[in-house]
Amino acid sequence: MLDYHLHLWPHGQRDTAPTLEQLSAYCERATSSGVTEIALTEHLFRFRQADELLRGFWDDDPDERLRASMTRYWDDHAHADLDSYVSCVLEAKSEGLPVVLGLEVDYYPGRMEKVADLLAGYPFDVLLGSVHWIGIWRFDDLADPVSMSGWSARDVDSAWDAYTGAIEELAASGTCDVLAHPDLVKVAGHRPVHPEECWERLAEAAASSGMAAELSSAGWTKPVKEMYPGPELLERLVAKGVPLTTASDAHELGNVAHRVADIAAALERFHVDTLRAFRRRRPVTVQLSASAGRP
Ligand SMILES: [Zn+2]
Ligand SMILES: [Zn+2]
Repeated sequence: MLDYHLHLWPHGQRDTAPTLEQLSAYCERATSSGVTEIALTEHLFRFRQADELLRGFWDDDPDERLRASMTRYWDDHAHADLDSYVSCVLEAKSEGLPVVLGLEVDYYPGRMEKVADLLAGYPFDVLLGSVHWIGIWRFDDLADPVSMSGWSARDVDSAWDAYTGAIEELAASGTCDVLAHPDLVKVAGHRPVHPEECWERLAEAAASSGMAAELSSAGWTKPVKEMYPGPELLERLVAKGVPLTTASDAHELGNVAHRVADIAAALERFHVDTLRAFRRRRPVTVQLSASAGRP
């Protein structure tokens, strides 16, 4: 098993310089849970380098409350140094720890070439592609009342359609390797009456782009109380031959490898016996077996 989606800092907490001890503790907790390799995948927007590149992408949105909310969010998050983060993970790798260098990258319409240029300057193993906001509406920010009020102001069908469209564009941009939490739009528990078309489009976006898709236990801790992706989308991804990673999306040590045995059970139920790992953004197949650490 893998834990290919890990953060160093909880939201709402300022970054601290990453240390080898911290990464070593992540690896130890992961391996003791049957995970053979982890990927550190901090949010791109936590780094000053992203701030310089992307600040103000929300300026043209007509909704003043959302603009103010995004400014606050950005101000809270964009402080860490990408160079220190990268060198700390590279140091852990060179010490022989089972960790690869990754990043979680959001979709910035019209700016993905600039993002790709920035990221090309670093030796990333894997880049996760995520959609956490529709336009500038942070539909998954459960702690932010302005963002959550968006769910009562909008039609659920159009929210799912817009989310799916953003994933399709992100996948087509070719910037990232793995579709993170592919059906995140369900996070607050809102679902259209007929989600089938969105599931089909999400699976096709992954398949046609060659991206892998992530199975994440994080959804079980959210109001939706369901793994990302849910069984209907997972079935479609498997049917289209989309390779999979597994992940906890932990933001602190205690959640590393969260419910990895339940993810393993889901893989078994869908007869998936390989996962996809990455080295310098090239795919590596991981066989799932007792010897590969399947719990
Ligand atoms: Zn995410
Ligand atoms: Zn994440």
